[in-house]
Amino acid sequence: MRIRGYRGFILAILMAAMLTGIWSPSAEALSQPAGERPHYQLEATYSAKDQTVRGHMKVRLPDRREKAWKDVYFHLYPNAFKDWKWGAESRPEKPGHLKVSQVKVDGEKASAKEKGTLLRIQLDRPLADGKTALVEMDYELKLPKGGTRLNVYGNTAFLAQWYPMLAVHDDEGWHTDPYTTTGDPFFSQISDFEVTLQLPEGYQVISSARDPEQTSSTVTLRQERVRDFAAVITKDYEPIYGKVDDIRVNLWYLKGMEDVAQPLHDAAISSLSFFGKKFGAYPYEEVDVVLGETGYGIAGMEYPGLVTSVARIPTRKGEQPAINVVAHELAHQWWYGVVGNNQVKEPWLDEGLTTFSELLYMHEEKGEDERELLMRAAQRTDEIHKEKGVTSVESLYKYSDPIYGLMVYTRPAAMMWELVEKLGKEKVLEILHTYYDRYQFQTATTEDFIRVANETAGQDLRPFFDRWLFFKGER
Ligand SMILES: [Zn+2]
Repeated sequence: MRIRGYRGFILAILMAAMLTGIWSPSAEALSQPAGERPHYQLEATYSAKDQTVRGHMKVRLPDRREKAWKDVYFHLYPNAFKDWKWGAESRPEKPGHLKVSQVKVDGEKASAKEKGTLLRIQLDRPLADGKTALVEMDYELKLPKGGTRLNVYGNTAFLAQWYPMLAVHDDEGWHTDPYTTTGDPFFSQISDFEVTLQLPEGYQVISSARDPEQTSSTVTLRQERVRDFAAVITKDYEPIYGKVDDIRVNLWYLKGMEDVAQPLHDAAISSLSFFGKKFGAYPYEEVDVVLGETGYGIAGMEYPGLVTSVARIPTRKGEQPAINVVAHELAHQWWYGVVGNNQVKEPWLDEGLTTFSELLYMHEEKGEDERELLMRAAQRTDEIHKEKGVTSVESLYKYSDPIYGLMVYTRPAAMMWELVEKLGKEKVLEILHTYYDRYQFQTATTEDFIRVANETAGQDLRPFFDRWLFFKGER
């Protein structure tokens, strides 16, 4: 995501809602062998009239695990909008929710308990390594009005984190971290999706998958190897289509954005191409950039194959097309999308690398040089660290909003620029390229990143990273 505020970092996002449906199993999908990735089948019907998505979901659980599972957790993030616990400034105008019912495991009724944004399903028989199970449930999503990310705006539903999302289980156990308003409090693993949508008359869908250009009332979308599946259901947006090699790059805009739509589509094409050359190939067929507001304090938001960005940002030269926000969100396709990380535990890892990627693109392609400003902002983090003890490698819950941007975005981006000074740009790009190759479709950690940097640079950069990220020793 990109934060509004701190010059350069000024804007907002959008994303929100939709669907409902009744599931009819496809023999092909059900007979698919289990694998290391979860496989979701979602059937969903969107009612524009009551802004609700109703449907049925089946998830085939991955078959690789260290320890037998006695239970399974799903995140019900939209329930954060039911009883808003955070600041009044980000409170939705109308609440939303995600209700589940008829939970079954392998066709048998299962005991399931909902608590806030979490669903715990008890397994009657523990699930051993090499074994899979099919979890299914009915669900009803009520879209909040004026929600952050998940939202309804005019004749558009922004569906973000809109279905029960399987929590991540690793050697630390289940990751059941609750929703919060600082940063992107989401963590999920690479999965495969088959989503069948029933749309109201005249609506079309823009999603994480390759989308049909023709509008029809039933749409089936398939996308493999993504961490999440976002969709925008709309009858208001207009497209500009384009391509980078074989990748379809589409920009979607509303009335009143005509003047910025073309420059932002050009920026989407040139930044996607730039990042592909520098870091490694974008692995999907399509990416959509949807212009609009995403919620309080947010300028843009990333999902696999789909990003949102505000249309314009205030700058020293007045209001300008939000080129750097589009570039930022597209860089997240590499850092967060393909190479994942636990965004709750180590948010710097995707936000820091993404901010650096954004600034590198703005520097090389647009001639903007923010390095001095960045270094000054980094100095400020030394003072903050002295006052509060907080570093750049902390969980989301440790940061207040103003400190979050400086510690998690700015300081790590300044660190990467200093690494360029130290090793040369080509070596730093080689580090990022190697990191991308090695950890694609996986979850990387700070330690993984440092290991790749050391190996690629052929020297011990530990003291450098200790100073910049953990505030150990003098910078
Ligand atoms: Zn971001």
